[in-house]
Amino acid sequence: MRMIFIGPPGAGKGTQAARLVERYGIPHVSTGDMLRAAVKAGTPMGQMAGALMADGKLVPDDVIVGIVRERLAEPDCQAKGVLLDGFPRTVAQAEALDQMLDSEGIALDAVVLLEVPDGLIEERIVGRRSDPETGRIYHLTYDPPPADVVGRLVHRPDDTEEAVRKRLAAYHAQTAPIVPFYEAKGLVRRVDGVGSPDAVTARIADALPG
Ligand code: AMP
Repeated sequence: MRMIFIGPPGAGKGTQAARLVERYGIPHVSTGDMLRAAVKAGTPMGQMAGALMADGKLVPDDVIVGIVRERLAEPDCQAKGVLLDGFPRTVAQAEALDQMLDSEGIALDAVVLLEVPDGLIEERIVGRRSDPETGRIYHLTYDPPPADVVGRLVHRPDDTEEAVRKRLAAYHAQTAPIVPFYEAKGLVRRVDGVGSPDAVTARIADALPG
């Protein structure tokens, strides 16, 4: 199974991706997670990406395409497939991915588009916290963390109101145009992302093959 997860920031991609990779037994490849790891490690690429990310901007296509190309060549992705979360985010990235897959004679199975209205995004993101030990994502109001993990939760530096507005603008200007690209291939499954995480998981399950 090879699939892509698209949706605005804060749509719930990370939470749902964790559940989907378990269901299908496929690797979860999140470009945002890979970039955050590079920032933490202080690599030159991480330093460059970190400044753009904190400002709510996208990292250049050639950098992202390079890290995805390397990741997809690893044995787990080769053997099992992949769930791509946060990539592609521009039409140029979608075209580069197409070329990568074409050159190996493989095809995508589905593109899940998680839809959440702009008005709900800011509130979702500003209350978001993640557990660095487990990767589990919580929301202070809608999905409150248990008392024993609260102390170690982290707030992403780009989860501020100002950065969220820029990330949303980048989504509409640069990422939304990839939807028609995949619609033309008949791959897009639109899923309503409003509701409890379990309700959304059930909708995604209904929208996907077997
Ligand atoms: P995410 O965790 O998917 O919300 O990504 C966090 C940030 O990482 C984004 O706001 C971008 O700055 C950067 N980023 C992640 N994936 C990509 C991508 N495919 N193309 C460009 N920038 C990306």
